Amino acid sequence: QNNRFFWRSFMFLFLNCITIRTKPCCSGNPPSLRTLTFDGDLTFDEVHHAATDFGHRFQMLPLAVLHPKSVSDIATTIKHIWHLGAHSNITVAARGHGHSLHGQAQAHHGIVINMEALRSPKKHVYTGKAPYVDVSGGELWINVLHETLKYGLAPKSWTDYLHLSIGGTLSNAGISGQAFRHGPQISNVHQLEVVTGKGEVLNCSENQNDDLFYSVLGGLGQFGIITRARISLEAAPQKVKWIRVLYSDFTTFARDQEHLIAAEKAFDYIEGFVIINRTGILNNWRSSFDPQDPVQASQFKSDGKTLFCLELAKYFNTDESDQQHEEIINKLSLLKYIQPTLFLTEVSYEEFLDRVHVSEVKLQSKGLWEVPHPWLNLLIPKSNIQAFAEEVFGNILTTTSNGPILIYPVNKSKWDNRTSAVIPDEDIFYLVAFLSSAVNSSAGTDSLEHILTQNKRILEFCETANLGVKQYLPHYTMQEDWQAHFGPQWKVFVQRKSTYDPLAILAPGQRIFQKAI
Ligand code: FAD
Repeated sequence: QNNRFFWRSFMFLFLNCITIRTKPCCSGNPPSLRTLTFDGDLTFDEVHHAATDFGHRFQMLPLAVLHPKSVSDIATTIKHIWHLGAHSNITVAARGHGHSLHGQAQAHHGIVINMEALRSPKKHVYTGKAPYVDVSGGELWINVLHETLKYGLAPKSWTDYLHLSIGGTLSNAGISGQAFRHGPQISNVHQLEVVTGKGEVLNCSENQNDDLFYSVLGGLGQFGIITRARISLEAAPQKVKWIRVLYSDFTTFARDQEHLIAAEKAFDYIEGFVIINRTGILNNWRSSFDPQDPVQASQFKSDGKTLFCLELAKYFNTDESDQQHEEIINKLSLLKYIQPTLFLTEVSYEEFLDRVHVSEVKLQSKGLWEVPHPWLNLLIPKSNIQAFAEEVFGNILTTTSNGPILIYPVNKSKWDNRTSAVIPDEDIFYLVAFLSSAVNSSAGTDSLEHILTQNKRILEFCETANLGVKQYLPHYTMQEDWQAHFGPQWKVFVQRKSTYDPLAILAPGQRIFQKAI
């Protein structure tokens, strides 16, 4: 008995010593940072804002915040830290719009780079054949939209919400209802300017420094800071026909979605969402959707049943309205939705793309935007989506959803397997996004604790049923979990890290690598 106690105590002390010894032993070198000169400024005082994000669950206070006015401000900072090498534990996180969920853009005792400070009002728009726009990595997508619309152009692939930065979404993928046709945003970039973890400023593209280019796209900020991006554009439509139809049966809903993404030209945007136990459906639907026939729409009663809503959009110019209407009705006639539930509206292209911002403003006014967001985003192979839906919508989430649940398929052929993004190994996979808000700080079905327990049940089911699911906007705290997430791509990811950021200075908030000192 005594012997066992001795060994247990010994092992406890031994393991703790290792833990303590492997923790950083020296806390950076602020005095030397103060000697650097910048076009912008480095502040050690007002740093609290950089310790928050949209998730409202993780707060890591940085040592300083850099507000760069030039790319060389960023390069100078990183080069300085690179040269401090093993004498410093300072890390660097680029912060786009800080809309991460788990502290991914934070740096405990490190330097946060406020990328929005690098934005410039003038964006170069090339209007010739194969048009593009050159923008700063800290620019917001909403501003890119406004600028390119002046030339009758717009990016092809979007996120549902546009108040996110170019660098922030390109570090993940950037997925929305256009992805089935154009691929994610990382499939629509021609060229990047990047500051690596050694402080080098490099241009990269398919033809120049291609390994860096593909590393950075979907690279979770691990290989470099995106300071400029060249984004592919297309002619912007004037208007959008925005359609919603309802299904009570998941199999029929999914079959129609898959049929639609196969016919590439049928619609310009294809998404869907799950409605759980909602009686006053119209009042509860996400965003600014306002059907042209609200009376007919309001007559539909769900009786608290789980429903699946297919959301479609068709772009058009004003002179094509009637012809488009007829074509849409023809295409919809091939679908098997519940017949009295066709809701259609017409909005401007900009209103359509910026639709989630309308919800943001509403939630802000009620104090419901700045709350914890325990979101869970999953990429699920088509072959297992039925099993997933049966368990999750049939057993786990039956009473309420605490926020929108998006569900829609995309085509893997539109993704470039040279990027760092991790996706399921199947030709079609679904994005399923549980966009929960924890509005109640104590117990109850809308509390953080309850939602986290539900998320855990969903993840455990995916694991035990071996569904081949990958997390999107992944969050893990153990390296072995990261290794499992990347699977066969892990070796390449590690090798890319050792090439472009060998000291693991960049994006420590992702918790994939720890700075070696
Ligand atoms: P941040 O939170 O600032 O940064 C995210 C990560 O990228 C960090 O690791 C950071 O260090 C790194 N990073 C930031 N800028 C750079 C840069 N210039 N160079 C290199 N690394 C950088 N995603 C979708 O795909 N589709 C959606 O429809 C969608 N909708 C969303 C709606 C809302 C309301 C929110 C809050 C998020 C949504 N997201 C969506 C997720 C979003 O794309 C990511 O959270 C994204 O990272 C947010 O961008 P950001 O500028 O706020 O990034």
